[in-house]
Amino acid sequence: MDVTKDQDFDEWYNQVVEAADLCDKRYPVKGMNIWKPYGWEIARAIDALIREEMRRTGHQEVNFPLLVPESLFQKEVDHIKGFGSEVFWVTHAGDHELDERLLLRPTSETALYTVFALWIRSHADLPLKTFQIVNTFRYETKMTKAFIRVREIHFFEAHTCHRDYEEAEDQVREDVDIARSFFDTLCLPFLMHRRPDWDKFAGAHYSIGVDVLMPSLKVLQVASIHQYRENFSRPFDITYEDEEGNHHHVHQTTYGMSERVLGGIVGLHGNDHGIALPSAIAPIQVVIIPILFRGKEGPVEEACQEVERALTERGLRVHLDSRDKTPGNKFYDWELRGIPVRIEIGPRDVEKGAVTLVTRDGEKKQISRDHLGQIDDELAAFDRRITTRAQQFRDQHVHSLSTLEKREGIIRVPWCGREECGLEMEEEVDMSSLGIPYPEPAVEGTCAACGERARHWLSLAKSY
Ligand code: ZN
Repeated sequence: MDVTKDQDFDEWYNQVVEAADLCDKRYPVKGMNIWKPYGWEIARAIDALIREEMRRTGHQEVNFPLLVPESLFQKEVDHIKGFGSEVFWVTHAGDHELDERLLLRPTSETALYTVFALWIRSHADLPLKTFQIVNTFRYETKMTKAFIRVREIHFFEAHTCHRDYEEAEDQVREDVDIARSFFDTLCLPFLMHRRPDWDKFAGAHYSIGVDVLMPSLKVLQVASIHQYRENFSRPFDITYEDEEGNHHHVHQTTYGMSERVLGGIVGLHGNDHGIALPSAIAPIQVVIIPILFRGKEGPVEEACQEVERALTERGLRVHLDSRDKTPGNKFYDWELRGIPVRIEIGPRDVEKGAVTLVTRDGEKKQISRDHLGQIDDELAAFDRRITTRAQQFRDQHVHSLSTLEKREGIIRVPWCGREECGLEMEEEVDMSSLGIPYPEPAVEGTCAACGERARHWLSLAKSY
């Protein structure tokens, strides 16, 4: 990288994603990047974490077609308004113009709900809890940015159907718990807000956004949870028969995330030496580097192999780097790729029956070969340290104010709840509303725009 993270975060980010071997941005379609093997392995590890959460909470994985007929997309009016301008259309098959245009899914509501109407017959079919991990397409017109704003998106979406509003509300609460557990594992301190009505998901009854505060002091939305009520089930006619033979529309929810999660990890934990990966998703958790001196190679190489075997047996993802490169070059490569723990073994370590351990955030110590189990604790401690640092950064930049004033980061002001006041404040500080903190703390005082009694806190920030 030819800029430091402090000097120019966005440029540092643009460079580090390629330097760390996550993606290649040279594909000749704007906003469509190539996942390199290393980046894709991390993406799959993130997918595995959410798949595990889905399994734990009784969701089943599906995989729906990419193309959606225009007539289905037209069914929910707000939904079209929200996505219409971002849609890629398929109009031809060979020379033949299609009778009906098809679109590349920007999200999958319309594809899934057409079929949910066939799958759901009675109350015994509910709740229906599904998810898929697929590519979605959005014609972004703003400047594209790897993982953060792209036109082909690696996307996770859970879709559920329930008997009534209350059961759908329970699902929203379960989704909030899933998000907490998922982002904690990824060492990403987040903020949750109920989005204001003028910024909710197109077609939703309400939306909860999950954001992280990036070092640029702009927020990045990394997940969103939506309560749809009957907004989609009515146009798509998804009904069930209850015990008494009456028919009702289902209540629906969704939970969405994308490759932005990786963008958040790169942004929050990386430094001028490269990215830093939480141990749960690092393709390599421990890299072993032999420090060789001429004539003493044998015992060092042997020790490295033994340590590799012992750690692999403990269930760790280990790599012994025996390339013909200097140790310094190897340190550089693995720091760039964010490996949490590096083990160095030289002749002196061999003599002492020890190894030298260096974490990605610079903690260094010797540990005895008899106590290699300690590395589990070192990985956990590393995760805690990077989490704490990111938490401190976030907390330093959330400003609770009684009147509106420009600050860097996130500001929170008392608000009467009226849209016109929210929009007025957005304009005055040139930020957008994140919404009402979720869960919501008690509020006192008066609306920072109109002076009437405040009913909520409103958070505002600049965002990606
Ligand atoms: Zn007001």
